[in-house]
Amino acid sequence: MARRKGRQPRPLAERFWEKVDKRGPDECWPWVGSIDTRGYGSIGADGGKPLLRAHRVAYELCVGPIPPGLVVCHTCDTRHCVNPIHLFVATQRENVLDMVRKGRRQWPAGERHPKAKLRAEDVIAIRNDTRPPRLIRAEYGIGKTTLHQIKRRETWRCLP
Ligand SMILES: [Zn+2]
Repeated sequence: MARRKGRQPRPLAERFWEKVDKRGPDECWPWVGSIDTRGYGSIGADGGKPLLRAHRVAYELCVGPIPPGLVVCHTCDTRHCVNPIHLFVATQRENVLDMVRKGRRQWPAGERHPKAKLRAEDVIAIRNDTRPPRLIRAEYGIGKTTLHQIKRRETWRCLP
């Protein structure tokens, strides 16, 4: 099939990773594309518009759809970081509370954000957990659907 245009627009997922400075798995992955006035990475949707925030795109490409009404936040507080492991979803109110709290002290190790039910290390542990699903669900406080999605790699696709 002949291409009508010389330059075919490439899909978002393909354009996206070219603009990411992928470093170690736990390090920040700086966005090297354009940065918006608030300091977030920015990339055009397929077709050029609208402009999307790069960390939200990273979350959707790797973790899964962003639940309606929730914002994507950074555990690392680096706005232009797009490492999916550093991203979690929360309500706008929780995001503000989180920022207030972080102003006083660092995020305590092991403490779970109320909405970020699972952290990346949990997801990896769950994938390797061979116990009966009932026990896994009880330990992590997750439902059947969430567990199945993780095991089948429908969510958190970028994790091992
Ligand atoms: Zn980061």
